[in-house]
Order: sequence, then C-alpha cells, then structure tokens
Amino acid sequence: MDARGAVARISLEAIRHNLNVARQQAPNAKAVAVVKANAYGHGDLTVAAALEQDADMFAVARFEEAQRLRAGGIQLPILLLEGFFNIPQLEYAARHDFHVCVHSHDQLAALERTPLSAPITVWVKIDSGMHRVGFAPEEAETVFSRLAELPAVVQPVNAMTHFARADEPDNRAVTDEQIASFKAATQGRVKHTALCNSAGVLAFPDAHADFIRPGVMLYGITPFGDQQGTDFGLRPAMNFTTTLLAVREHKAGEPVGYAGSWVSPRDTRIGVIAVGYGDGYPRMAPAGTPVLINGRRVPLAGRVSMDMATVDLGPDATDKVGDEVLLWGDGLAAEEVARHVGTIAYELVTRMTARPRLEYV
Ligand code: PLP
Repeated sequence: MDARGAVARISLEAIRHNLNVARQQAPNAKAVAVVKANAYGHGDLTVAAALEQDADMFAVARFEEAQRLRAGGIQLPILLLEGFFNIPQLEYAARHDFHVCVHSHDQLAALERTPLSAPITVWVKIDSGMHRVGFAPEEAETVFSRLAELPAVVQPVNAMTHFARADEPDNRAVTDEQIASFKAATQGRVKHTALCNSAGVLAFPDAHADFIRPGVMLYGITPFGDQQGTDFGLRPAMNFTTTLLAVREHKAGEPVGYAGSWVSPRDTRIGVIAVGYGDGYPRMAPAGTPVLINGRRVPLAGRVSMDMATVDLGPDATDKVGDEVLLWGDGLAAEEVARHVGTIAYELVTRMTARPRLEYV
C-alpha cells in the first residue's frame, strides 16, 4: 500500500563505463566530459566527482555551472563552452583554471584589453558549418595572430568546432565538409584541436583529433534518433521510476483524465502512476507511450497531468498499489520514450524537475 513519488536512480558505474566506451572509440584522444545542464539531469557535482579520475577535463555551458563545480571541489580544468561575458568572469576563469572558448569579437577585444593575473587557456571556436557561434574559417588566421600577441594567453592557443549533423548517418557529407573546413583553418596554427560530440565520437573516427567532447553518450543515450545506447555498448545511467498509487476498475466507453481525451474500448483496469509534468515527465507523451510495470509494457491512457498519469493495465492485471513503474531506463530506453513524445532523449533527462529524488547507486 506504500505508494511513493518519482525517483531517478543514477548509476555512476554506468557513467564511468560509458566514458570508457568513448575512450575506446578514440584511444588517442583526451576526453572532455560534458556535464552541462546538471550533467544532463544526472547531478553535475556527483557525476563530475565520479569521473575525476577517468576524464581529462570537464565542459559546461554557463559560467555559474563551472563555479559550482569548483566550489564543490572539482579540480580538473573546466572548459566554458560559451566562454566569458564580462571582465570579472574572465579574471575568475584565469585564476580557477577554466579554459575559455572564444567565439566572438567582443571576447577577443576583452582579452586584448585586460591584463590578467594568471595565464588563461583559450579554445578558439571555429564556425565550420553550425552557424550558431564561432569565427568564420576565413577569420581564423587573424584571430590566431591577435591572440599570439597576448602575454596572458597560453601559447599556442587551441581550436574547436561543433557538428550540426553528425547524428544523421545519411548526411555524412555535411560533417565531412565541416571537418575539412576546420582542418584547413587550423592546420599548423594551434596546439590542440577538438571536434567531436558523441555522434562524432561514434561515427567520425577521422575527426577524433586531440580531445573528444562526449556528452549524451556518457549518460547511456545515443545521439542517433533511430537507435539506442545499448546498440553501442552503452549502459543507461538513469532509471526513472515511480509507483502505482491507485488501481481502478474502469468501464468500456468511460473517459480518463483531463479533457476525456482517451476513452476505454473495453472494461479494464486503469493504473494511476505517481508522476507528471511536475516531475519532468513530458505532458506531451501521448496515449500509447509505454511504461514498464512488473516486467510488462503498459501504455499511457489519457493526458499526463502535473502529479499523475494514467495507464491501461488491462482487464486481467494483477498489479498493486505500490508496485514500481519504470518510466525510462534499463529495459525501456529513454530514446524509445522520446520517439513516442516526438522529442530527443537529451530533452527527457535534462528537463527533469527538482521534485524527483536523485539516488546514486
Ligand atoms: N560540445 C559542444 C560544444 C556542445 O555544445 C555539446 C552539447 O551540446 C557537446 C560537445 C556534447 O554533445 P553530445 O551531448 O551530443 O555529445
């Protein structure tokens, strides 16, 4: 009778294993473990602490994320994927061994006019085709020359780029062009290069370069839409579970939940599960999205609400209040759930709210 709310059980062992899979794919590269957005919802400090012996560096998007990791005792260099946005951040970065990505003329000018009290490691971001941030390949030479003049910048600088379509196996040509353009812009001018996100690590061995930047694969998720992490020897790191909080007899023709959007075609048992969009379970998950109860796949029936969702257990179900429900994880890939929802597994794990407890195993 004991029904509990949602819990995300995180396997640090699985995350270590997954980093090792990335390393085996790129044996000559160093590994930057990407732990932005709270380590894709897995808890950034705990994940980073678990990977300190295995990774060479960490990467985050926001300055505050890097500060949190340092304040929490993380010692490896931390790459700021968005760089810095004011002089105090730049000075803090230099003093705390944050590597800064430099992607804009504003950042370059700020580096030129700021005398720093400690050396700073720079990664010049080249826009080889994503067209989001970074310098055009034609600008690279000027940027490298200007940076070479700066005494506080560790010389020579490094360079990185980011792939727009490496997760599309049928579109290799676009990524091949990005690789060629980046190589042409950086050859002989920089110390280290880094190109590969998870898709690059798994599908573009000729681009592994000096450093890889795996993110989603560390969490056991594949970047390729029609596959799942286990296809690549990855282990799901998050088991997102909850429990059955009610089991109800339900008559054929009766609707369930808000808007009565699902009507049972037969007499059945409806299971009410203790999870909703207040936990980060997607409201857009349609009827038919599977959950796993007592080893059986059971479909959602009716709309997901803030605290509860409903499933069609079937007329002969013997499931009881308190039974565990797996929302995604071992045996039900987040990638599969994401396909039902019309999103990517990245989003499912990253948008968990603060309500579910994170438990580390
Ligand atoms: N490198 C950069 C610059 C990124 O922005 C990201 C994530 O978006 C990653 C690496 C990691 O990507 P993924 O999670 O696809 O491995």
